[in-house]
Amino acid sequence: MAVVGRALGALLAQLPHRRPLDSIQGMPELPEVETLRRGLAGLLPGRVVRGAELGLPKLLAAAPPDGLAVLVGRPVERVERHGKLLGLRCGPWTLLLHLRLTGQLVFVDGGTRFAGGHPVPPFDAPLPGRMTHLALAFDRGALYLNDQRQFARARLLPAAEAAAFVDAQALGPSPLDADLTPQRLAERLARHARLPVKGALLDQRTVAGLGNIYADESLFLAGLHPARRAGALGSAEGARLLGAMRRALAVALERGGAVVINGRAVPLPGKDFLLVHGRAGQPCRACGAKVLKERIAGRGTYFCPRCQG
Ligand SMILES: [Zn+2]
Repeated sequence: MAVVGRALGALLAQLPHRRPLDSIQGMPELPEVETLRRGLAGLLPGRVVRGAELGLPKLLAAAPPDGLAVLVGRPVERVERHGKLLGLRCGPWTLLLHLRLTGQLVFVDGGTRFAGGHPVPPFDAPLPGRMTHLALAFDRGALYLNDQRQFARARLLPAAEAAAFVDAQALGPSPLDADLTPQRLAERLARHARLPVKGALLDQRTVAGLGNIYADESLFLAGLHPARRAGALGSAEGARLLGAMRRALAVALERGGAVVINGRAVPLPGKDFLLVHGRAGQPCRACGAKVLKERIAGRGTYFCPRCQG
């Protein structure tokens, strides 16, 4: 492992391995990333980076010549979210983190442990572990990026370049943005007029942060069949869809999101709030008809044939 910073091994070794767990679970959609951002925003700002360890060079897709060492001595100022990207702002630098399908972040400081992302390895596993690919040690505590399948990516960029990188992703507005009106949504959907509405919603240029789970949930709440052409929705249907996206995300945010194992949502006991996604063959919660699963827009799509007829 490439080690930068001072006495990092000793710093990491001091950290407790098994502690009470305070975690949110799930990836990779807006509610999970936003819940992760909120948790980290309450923990990281003010902590000073003392060392950084990169165990998987390909994970750091962009960095200055000195790599993560430029962060040493700098406090985290804030934790941002852009679509599904998290950004840690440290002085003139922004560390962008994209957990993708199987990434996980765990912050540990004494008895405090906060984790989010993919639930494998277990959130209370000893750290750093075999799947730890990046670790930041702070004056108090450490943040670990773990990823069993090594899809996660980090970019360490000057803050202005990080903003440009985010812009270049051409992310659409968040469904939660107050200035996203039904008319603006309709205009964005119209760019994908011939796609199924499910596919248009998954395109992050239409709206940012919605993935397979919450696209299904939103379309169910709006009473829209996922295979409808995006360009064929009337204005009342567009307004219904916007309201439905906000409700689906609000419910998930309140609960901290779903657990996602290899792309499939698995509600936790007590978190069984998904209405159609992952419920093929089970009765629709609204009408009792059997929830169907079909491949639409290239993705396994769950819907109620009666409510979304
Ligand atoms: Zn139904």
